[in-house]
Amino acid sequence: MQQPLRIAVVGSGPAGMYAAAALAESGRASVDVIDRLPAPFGLVRYGVAPDHFSIRSVRDTLDRIWDQPGVRFLGNITVGVDVHVHELQELYDAVILTYGSSSDRHMGVPGEELRGCVGATDFVAWYCGHPDADRAFFESWLPTVKHAVVVGLGNVAVDVARVLAKTPEELSTTDMPAHVRATLASAAITDIHIVGRRGPAQATFTNKELKELGELEATGVSIDRHGLDEETGWSTGDRGVARNLDVIRGWMERPEPTGKTLHFHFMARPIEVKGNGSAEAMVVERTHFDAGGQISGTGELLDIPAEFIVRSIGYRGVGLPGVPFDESTGTVVHAEGRVTHGLYTAGWVKRGPSGIIGTNKKDAVATVHQLFADADAGFVSASSGGDLEGFLASKGVVPVSTAGWRAIDQAERALGQEFGIERVTIADRATMLAIAEQA
Ligand code: NAP
Repeated sequence: MQQPLRIAVVGSGPAGMYAAAALAESGRASVDVIDRLPAPFGLVRYGVAPDHFSIRSVRDTLDRIWDQPGVRFLGNITVGVDVHVHELQELYDAVILTYGSSSDRHMGVPGEELRGCVGATDFVAWYCGHPDADRAFFESWLPTVKHAVVVGLGNVAVDVARVLAKTPEELSTTDMPAHVRATLASAAITDIHIVGRRGPAQATFTNKELKELGELEATGVSIDRHGLDEETGWSTGDRGVARNLDVIRGWMERPEPTGKTLHFHFMARPIEVKGNGSAEAMVVERTHFDAGGQISGTGELLDIPAEFIVRSIGYRGVGLPGVPFDESTGTVVHAEGRVTHGLYTAGWVKRGPSGIIGTNKKDAVATVHQLFADADAGFVSASSGGDLEGFLASKGVVPVSTAGWRAIDQAERALGQEFGIERVTIADRATMLAIAEQA
């Protein structure tokens, strides 16, 4: 039997885990899945909304991949700091970059830097218990917030709005850390505004996610009717879109809510964040479609009071030293998943932040096929290889092993039992590392 290839996969989100599974199932490779965090699964753990239990259960499927022979987790290693990609290429026969989109796009409007105006990546990371989240900011800020604006009409915007809208009871069975639930419970938010620069027919949220917003315990929906005529947002031949429009029409027929309200403003683009040191209002300009089908401003402005503004206008990948990167798309430069012979990419950092979790499986498998095609052509071959752990030890970096992750997992489940729920996410990096070390 041929000596197996030794592959390093950088990033343990869905794309990395599906790549690892495809490599291991081939019987031709052993895989080290490297992540900068002490816990694996990337956006499945730190992005999928904690109240979306069925999507979050993908974790269990991904977790079983560690049981495959030759697949190891090496957490708490920051590629680009603790080890560079070119060093990984020396230590392994091939490297697959699947580190996703950790940053987000900016609105590019004045006042965006004011306190209280954040990216969805930051807010989502915080409520999912990401160890690098700015706890001090969210825990001090959210209790002061009465009005929030979420910019964007995608599923992330819907997640953010829903989490802000739910009651403590509605969030009580999630695995959110206790400090997150306590902070959200202490926020006395009365109004949440979702702002989108185009119409409901162009929104990228999906029907199931949209419908949930109309089923909240203590928050009603109100639709700002500006721009909602046949010429702008309403006409469509797409059935998925038609279902969304039905939901919105249904909401428009309901009586206006009297309590906590989720307001939708379509055809409104962000112009400015107003405030003195911190956000006080979001100024939007009403838009319309011009003759060419593009949106343009009408000149009519609307001031929406908001002490908390979450831009949810798309995630973005960031480059790694020495790896060709397209700044305009936030993706690694590649052809069919190959960066160069021996260096590959899959997932969001390959194709941009789109699709559902399962999209990454097909994508990762395609990249693995590319890698094996290169191996068959003699461009990638098994070598005696190097020792990443030895390399890291010389720098004082101790990775979290698969056993370390299992110990963190067990500790989270034990914590969950105390509250009668499946698990509670441990958000503190030092605590996670201490648990892993004992293992
Ligand atoms: P997205 O679907 O691409 O939505 C981005 C939104 O931002 C769009 O409404 C876009 O409007 C708007 N936008 C972009 N630039 C803007 C600007 N300068 N000013 C105002 N608005 C702007 O991205 P996402 O919501 O971050 O989601 C990422 C991916 O994760 C998607 O594939 C999504 O379906 C998936 N996801 C799925 C779920 C789920 O299945 N439950 C949950 C979360 C995320 P335009 O269309 O006008 O550009």
